[in-house]
Amino acid sequence: MIEHPASAHDQVSARLRLLPSVDALLRTVAASELIDIVSRERLAEVARAVLDGMRAELRSDDDSAHDGDDSRTRLLDEAMRRIARDVRASEERGLRRVINATGVVLHTNLGRAPLSDSARRRIADEAAGYCTLEYDLASGERGRRAPRVEELLKQITGAEAALVVNNCAAATVLVLAALAADGETIISRGELVEIGGDFRIPDVMRQSGTRMVEVGTTNRTRLSDYEQAITERTRLVARVHPSNFRVVGFTHAPALDELATLCHARGVTLFEDAGSGLLSGMSDIGLTDEPLIPASIRLGADVVAFSGDKLLGGPQAGIIVGRADLIERIRRTPLTRALRADKLVLAALEATLEAHARGTAHTEIPALRMLGETEAASHTRAAAFADRLRAATDEPQLDIEIIRDEAAIGGGSAPLVRLPSAALALRHPAFTADDFARRLRMYRPPIVARVREERVLVNLRAVSESEEDELLAGVVTTSEC
Ligand SMILES: *Cc1c(COP(=O)(O)O)cnc(C)c1O
Repeated sequence: MIEHPASAHDQVSARLRLLPSVDALLRTVAASELIDIVSRERLAEVARAVLDGMRAELRSDDDSAHDGDDSRTRLLDEAMRRIARDVRASEERGLRRVINATGVVLHTNLGRAPLSDSARRRIADEAAGYCTLEYDLASGERGRRAPRVEELLKQITGAEAALVVNNCAAATVLVLAALAADGETIISRGELVEIGGDFRIPDVMRQSGTRMVEVGTTNRTRLSDYEQAITERTRLVARVHPSNFRVVGFTHAPALDELATLCHARGVTLFEDAGSGLLSGMSDIGLTDEPLIPASIRLGADVVAFSGDKLLGGPQAGIIVGRADLIERIRRTPLTRALRADKLVLAALEATLEAHARGTAHTEIPALRMLGETEAASHTRAAAFADRLRAATDEPQLDIEIIRDEAAIGGGSAPLVRLPSAALALRHPAFTADDFARRLRMYRPPIVARVREERVLVNLRAVSESEEDELLAGVVTTSEC
């Protein structure tokens, strides 16, 4: 009898029948472990998607590419392998701690300022469970939200009153909406900035309902420009710090106190969006043109807004300080309720502000300590780390060199300030620098480093001392072929 070769169509159908069912997959031991992590329903969903993918591959697979070894077990194993991979991949998209070896201290994508030990403890010990968020222990009644944070802000900045919201973008919207929605806000054309992505001053003005009145030019705005623009419709004069760019050369802007004198003579409120939240001077690292919040208050700004997680070194927050009557008006607008900060943030902010009030911020707050590291100290630390790395690795091909590098403040602050540093430049002949950097990112905890000129640069400025051992183990492990 002559055997008719099965048609291609029949072969595919036969192969498809060998694919396991979702139920069969969920009954495996490997699946039961995954079910404990993600639930049966979720795993069934992942399994269906994996089977769909495999079915499509089997259909499109031509005979030549096909090894003919599609036994049931092989397909089941392959499906389970893919399911486990997909479950792991979705877990990786969760929030994870990383080691920041980029040298960018306030790295916006990596969460800006790392919290101090006391801020971390305050969250865990005092705020994670029930706490006195809006509760007065003495009376047993509802209390004010975050009175201690406001007290500290008043003490540190010299302002009459303070209010904390979600971030500085929210603070700016809130101030404009509460104080100027029924009128005009004057701003210099040199300050119509974009602070990253969606935060553009002209859009924010529109959103807040205030009519923006531009004065001066990109590089020069005089006091008389503001003076001529003030009318009975003017509610605010806004001064916005151009955080992430600088205009250099033939430039002018009136000093804050000149502007304050003008505003107060004409019955107009002066609002400053200061951005970074510098609470005490850091001229030692060349930080000379960031507004110092206590100085802004002293020089006559009526309301000042700034971030909690830039140069203040705390959690994401928007802080508003200024005249008591104005802060009270802002507090009473419904938008304040929508933008308020939560208890974890308030706990971390309280501990961070205590360090500022004690005068120990520059040693206690990680971001400030990192920014203050001298070039010499950075070289000593990098050299010691390189020695430890050479001693720890059995990988003779790993090339380790110490080079001069520049770290940056980041967070859209002080773009011209460069922090001379040392970095380890790593090279391995078995992989490209991009591959090496990817291997470091895939390590647990992930290590984020930069690539430059075919080398991986590991800058220790934003790596805490307690992370050094993990970093060392990560570099050793990922550089093994
Ligand atoms: C960074 C910045 C903001 C936005 O602050 P977030 O806390 O990130 O919302 C607003 N204004 C200025 C001038 C800034 O520098």
